[in-house]
Amino acid sequence: MASAMKFYDYKWMLQRALAQVPKSDKLEDKKFEWPKADVLIQGSKTIVRNFGDVASFLQRKPSHLVKFLSRELGSPGNRDGKRLFFSGRFNYNLVNTKLASYVKEFVICPSCGRHETVLMKQDRIDIMKCDACGALNPMRTIK
Ligand SMILES: [Zn+2]
Repeated sequence: MASAMKFYDYKWMLQRALAQVPKSDKLEDKKFEWPKADVLIQGSKTIVRNFGDVASFLQRKPSHLVKFLSRELGSPGNRDGKRLFFSGRFNYNLVNTKLASYVKEFVICPSCGRHETVLMKQDRIDIMKCDACGALNPMRTIK
């Protein structure tokens, strides 16, 4: 009786230890940081000078991120090499707030909170596939 009890305790402790692993992973992920948009306002134009670097850091198609920012800022963005131009004046904080919304919606996995995700199409629906937890979550299409 006593030895059976001991085995039960050990199993319980092991299960508890395993259950704690994903939790600590999630905690680490809250520190996920990406390069901030380097915003320059020039006359009536706004230039994101490191746009290409930001998109490749986030591992998203630049065209997808351009669509999102254009929609959010209400001004179509035009890429020129690594840079992205908007007509209109949008300050650093505004552009970076929009970028953070993008990361939250299209980069971070809604199921586990990690950022090792890819966007793909399945039956014409945009899906986020998470490499960390395997979740598939439908994404809205940016029009
Ligand atoms: Zn996940």
